[in-house]
Amino acid sequence: MRRINLKKANVARADTIRYINRQIVLNYIREKEPISRAGISQETALQRSTVSLIVDELKTRGLIYEVEGESTGGRPPTLLRLRAAGCTAIGIDVSTTQTTVAVADLVGRVVERETFDAHPDVTITFHRITSSVQRFIRSNTNIEGIGVSVPGVVDPESGVALFIPHFKWRNWPLAADLSKSTGLPVTVDNDANAAALAELWLGRPEIRDVRDFILVLVHEGLGTGIIFDGQVYQGVAGAAGEFGHMTIGRGAPVVCAAGSDECWEAFASERAALARYKQRRGGEVDGDLTFRKLIDKAFANDEAARAALIETAHYLGLGIANLTKGLSPEAVILAGDISRAWPLIADELRNTLATNTICSDLVSAPVLPSTLGEDTRLMGALSLVLARKFASVVPA
Ligand SMILES: [Zn+2]
Repeated sequence: MRRINLKKANVARADTIRYINRQIVLNYIREKEPISRAGISQETALQRSTVSLIVDELKTRGLIYEVEGESTGGRPPTLLRLRAAGCTAIGIDVSTTQTTVAVADLVGRVVERETFDAHPDVTITFHRITSSVQRFIRSNTNIEGIGVSVPGVVDPESGVALFIPHFKWRNWPLAADLSKSTGLPVTVDNDANAAALAELWLGRPEIRDVRDFILVLVHEGLGTGIIFDGQVYQGVAGAAGEFGHMTIGRGAPVVCAAGSDECWEAFASERAALARYKQRRGGEVDGDLTFRKLIDKAFANDEAARAALIETAHYLGLGIANLTKGLSPEAVILAGDISRAWPLIADELRNTLATNTICSDLVSAPVLPSTLGEDTRLMGALSLVLARKFASVVPA
């Protein structure tokens, strides 16, 4: 796995060192804004003169701007901020039920969006995506790039979707095809990895400051994104994080995307919760019952809905307890619509974690609901563009 620690990048080839220094400075401004030139110099150990040169360059390129800080007696300090407005990105969330294409600014504010139902034919899906993107390109300026989040295994280097289990799509050269038809740089990643990146870039500050965490994305399936030292851990060919297929028991209420009733996904996904609800109601449920509606029912005191969610939370807790034992992260973030049910499931999750620890004296990582709401995967897709723009190690 290729990694460069942006904060301690002391060793770099001469032709890329200036580029890397620029990324270090940009990253600091993004993370700590508003921050002064002296502050950046102190935190990065880059020389004051180097920081000033880079800041001038970034200002000229329109990536940052100056604001006046609060005076502590003398002249007010000049602070630097990221220029989010004016630059836009296209985010595409390909999910098993629908695809959303959206234009947003660089802090994740959506300007325009379009959603269409999923189609099992990859060619039709691709055609719908490109026509939507081309419409957005015509009506928006300064689009920096495209980020795509997909529910499957992706090779992040080539942007090939290697396998999307729900549709049985294999070796889809999504980044190359989309880049060819739009003329824009395209970054593709797995939905849980992208969502984890979104927590880093767009999440609330207490999550952004955490350097090692696991994001558990619950939807029709279940995926995890692992952040180590502030970067997504990809593994070989991007296949890391498939904890949704770890064995957790027998006889789950549904089968996973690969057909097993022993996987975590089969016990703890939205489909598992819906199946439990149907069981409790003796099969009597509306044909169009969605997971969102199940949560609404639980909040409206439907006992069967509450019980189905709590039972699902128990299995979520079992899986999280296993991950925590093996990886000891600083935090675990629960994302997807399930995070809206947090007040109903938090106690069950905490109890399961407390009774499934190696030793009660161990401080276990806090489990927190994502603050990115319904748009977690879309924010993930947009974050792929942000990460490429601000933290890429590939020289421009
Ligand atoms: Zn499985």
